[in-house]
Amino acid sequence: MSILSDKEEALLAKARSIGAEFVYEPEDVAKGVREYLNLMEQGLKHSKQAMTMIPTYVTAVPNGTEKGVYLAVDLGGTNFRVCSIHLHGDSKFTLTQAKTPIPKELMIGTSKGLFSFLAKQIEDFVKKHHSDHFEPETSYSQLKLGFTFSFPVEQVALNKGYLIRWTKGFDIQDAIGKDVCELLQTEIDALDLPVRVVALVNDTVGTLMARSYTSPGKAGTLLGAIFGTGTNGAYVEKLPRISKLFNKTENYGEYDSSSGVMVINTEWGAFDNAMKVLPDTPYDRALDKNSVNPGMQMFEKRVSGMFLGEILRNAIVALMADGLFNVAHGTSIDENGPLFTPWSIDTSALSTIQADYTSSYTLTKQLLERDMGVSAASTGDAMAVKALVYGIGKRSARLSAIPIAATAIATGAYEKYKLAKAEAAEGEEVEKIDIGVDGSVVEYYPGFERYLREALRDIQPLVHGAAGLEEAIRIGIAKDGSGVGAALIALVA
Ligand code: ADP
Ligand code: MG
Repeated sequence: MSILSDKEEALLAKARSIGAEFVYEPEDVAKGVREYLNLMEQGLKHSKQAMTMIPTYVTAVPNGTEKGVYLAVDLGGTNFRVCSIHLHGDSKFTLTQAKTPIPKELMIGTSKGLFSFLAKQIEDFVKKHHSDHFEPETSYSQLKLGFTFSFPVEQVALNKGYLIRWTKGFDIQDAIGKDVCELLQTEIDALDLPVRVVALVNDTVGTLMARSYTSPGKAGTLLGAIFGTGTNGAYVEKLPRISKLFNKTENYGEYDSSSGVMVINTEWGAFDNAMKVLPDTPYDRALDKNSVNPGMQMFEKRVSGMFLGEILRNAIVALMADGLFNVAHGTSIDENGPLFTPWSIDTSALSTIQADYTSSYTLTKQLLERDMGVSAASTGDAMAVKALVYGIGKRSARLSAIPIAATAIATGAYEKYKLAKAEAAEGEEVEKIDIGVDGSVVEYYPGFERYLREALRDIQPLVHGAAGLEEAIRIGIAKDGSGVGAALIALVA
C-alpha cells in the first residue's frame, strides 16, 4: 500500500522522469572515452586546443624519501589555504594549516585586491607558526613557498606562469596574461615577509605528487584528479608522445629529459566543449546560459561542485510547475530565497539529500527549510527532490570515469597491467594503476567512487580485456594533496 496520494504519486513519477534525463548509459560512457582519447592526442600534438594538455616541466614523481619544511598555499576556487609541511622522508609528513573562504567580491575585482588579500593570509600564518623567521639573526632564512594555483596558466618555468583564463566564477580581467607568481611575490614583498615563491603548481599536479609520496605501491602514481569546485587532472606522459614540445615554432622552455616523462596538466574541464558526446538537459543549458563563460568548461559544468547545486536548482524549479511544494498543503516557499537565486544551492546539499535514508525524509525536509527556503515540505516533495539529486550525482560520477579510463588506456598503463596479469601465477598480486584524487565532491558525495567504478566496468567491451579495467585501478584520496604536492615541487625547485 502506498503512503502517497495520487497527486504525490504523479509528482514522483514526473520527478523520476526528470531524473531519468540524467541517465548516462554504458554506450554513452564508451563514446565519451573514445572522444576523450581523440582530444587528448590533439592536445599533445598541437598548442591552443580547448583541452590544453599543458606541459608542467615536472619530470619526476616522488618516491616517499623526500625531506624538509616548506610553505604551500592553495588558491582552489572556494577557499584559500596556507600551510607548512614537514616531510619526514618515510612517506609521512606533518602539516599545519589555515583556511579562509575567498570573499566573493575579490573573485571579480582586481588582481591587486585578490593577491594582497592572499599575501595578508600568508603573513598571519607565518607570524603565528614561523615567528622564528622574523628574528633578526634568522631573517636571511627565507621560507620556500609552493603556490598551488588551480586555473589554466601557460607555464614557462617552474616558478613562472601566465594566466590564460579564469574558470570557476573568477573574472579578474587585469590578471590575464600576467605571471601569477610575480603577482603574489610583489604583494608578499610589500609586507616584508621572509617568503619566496619558488614553484607554481596546479592542484592536480600537487595531488599527483602527494599521492605518489604517500601511496602504498612500488610504482609511482599515474594520475592526480580533482573533483572539487572544478574538475581537472594531471598525469605522467612519455616525452615522445608530447609532440608539440618538439615543434620549433612553439615557445616551450627547457626541461630535464632524463626521466623520459613529463607531467601533463590536461585541463579536462574543457573536455568536449563542442558537445559532441556530453549529455545535455534543459537544466544544463539554463546553467550554461547563466554562467560567466557560456560554451566553456562543458565537462566541468556537468561534474564538479560549483555546478551540481545549480543544476539541481534548475531541475527543482522545473518540477515546481508540476506540483512540487504545493502551497495548498501548507508548504511555503520564500520567493526571494535560494530557490529563486541562481548559484545559491551548495553541492553539499546533494550529498546530504543523497545520504538521507530516514523513513520520512527528515534530513531532506530540514535541508529544504534551512538552505532552500521551503518550509513544511511533504514527504512526497522530499522523495521527488531526492530522485533529482540521485540522477545528477550519479551522472557526475559516471562522467568522471571517462578521463580516468582514457588515461589508463592512452598511457599504456592498462596494457601493462593486462600483461602482468596474464603472466602472474594464480593468486599472485599484480601492481595496480594508482590514482590520487582530491576535492570535496569525490571525498564526500555518497557513492561517488562506487558509481564511477560501475562506469569503468561498463566500458569493458571497449577495451577487450580479459583482466578488468575497473579492478586494475586503485583510487586513493590524496589527503592535503595540494599542500604536500606543492611542498614536494618547492623542494625540487
Ligand atoms: P576547492 O575546490 O576550493 O579546492 P573543495 O575541494 O573543498 O575546494 O571543493 C569545494 C566544492 O565542493 C564546492 O563547490 C562545494 O559546493 C562542494 N562541496 C562541499 N562540501 C561538499 C559535500 N559534502 N558534498 C559534495 N560537494 C561538496
Ligand atoms: Mg582543491
